[in-house]
Amino acid sequence: MNSTVLDHHATATQLYEAAGTDFSKLNWLESYWAAWYLWIGNPIIATGLMSFIMHEVVYFGRCVPWIIIDAIPYFRKWKLQPGKVPSAKEQWECTKLVLFSHFTIELPQIWFFHPLAEACGMQTWQVPMPTWTTIAAQVALFFVFEDAFHYFVHQALHYGPLYKHIHKIHHKYSAPFGLAAEYAHPAEVLILGMGTIGGPLLFCWMTQNLHIFTVYVWVTLRLFQAIDAHSGYDFPWSLNHIVPFWSGADHHDFHHMAFVNNYSTSFRWLDYMFGTDDKYRAYKQRISAASGKDRAAIEKKLLEQTEQEGIVAADEAERRSVFGAKGKRE
Ligand SMILES: [Zn+2]
Ligand SMILES: [Zn+2]
Repeated sequence: MNSTVLDHHATATQLYEAAGTDFSKLNWLESYWAAWYLWIGNPIIATGLMSFIMHEVVYFGRCVPWIIIDAIPYFRKWKLQPGKVPSAKEQWECTKLVLFSHFTIELPQIWFFHPLAEACGMQTWQVPMPTWTTIAAQVALFFVFEDAFHYFVHQALHYGPLYKHIHKIHHKYSAPFGLAAEYAHPAEVLILGMGTIGGPLLFCWMTQNLHIFTVYVWVTLRLFQAIDAHSGYDFPWSLNHIVPFWSGADHHDFHHMAFVNNYSTSFRWLDYMFGTDDKYRAYKQRISAASGKDRAAIEKKLLEQTEQEGIVAADEAERRSVFGAKGKRE
């Protein structure tokens, strides 16, 4: 059968037949994967639906533990900004905007992803799937790509007009919480989302060797990273204490509090290399240098001071005009 004739209107059954898929050789995951495509029939709808459901389940599923932790005072000792625990009302306001943007901005994008992915040569309905070593290597590459993309584009979003009209929404919370990870202007979701999806598309276009399942693994881990980085908690067992170059909440919470420094997402190396973590490191040093008895008081004072400086810095960024001069206050 000629597979090019099948490309656009073929049902999943026709596609599997044309590919000569041997269903007897599949593992349970691959069997369910194929069963899903066969059940829905239309591969575009099958991919779109699966992508959207996966995003919602992973996003809100990962936020639930943080909502519970925020409700239990015992965990307060590991909160990076202990005085700022989000109220239920605040969390609900945030959820509403996130849900609104998921259904209006992200749903159409997710829907268009299948045609775009197939145009780049990505495998979607195909089974068997790549091996776990291939998946791990590709996901590691996407992590590095996204981190670098985010580092530079995030700094651009801190530039006057872009900050004022786009990125300011995400900075509403100077002490973030899990749900606030995707609390952002639609344009920001689109721009920074390119770092997450652009890497796999580019890689696929160049190598013609990528399965959408690998992209799902990547997006899941990236969502975990983003939500955890906004959680506001740094536990002794947090990943950044095991993997020193991992950013974690400790790194990104400072970005929200101080407004400057720490522009990357997953890793610390770019901020370190370009010196955009100078204030953060000085802050950490001052806290660790404080002796046991006064430590709590010094930490509290430093927190307040950094937060005040952050408010001033945000205000200044907003007033920076196209010509670089500081504009008048509105
Ligand atoms: Zn920012
Ligand atoms: Zn953030």
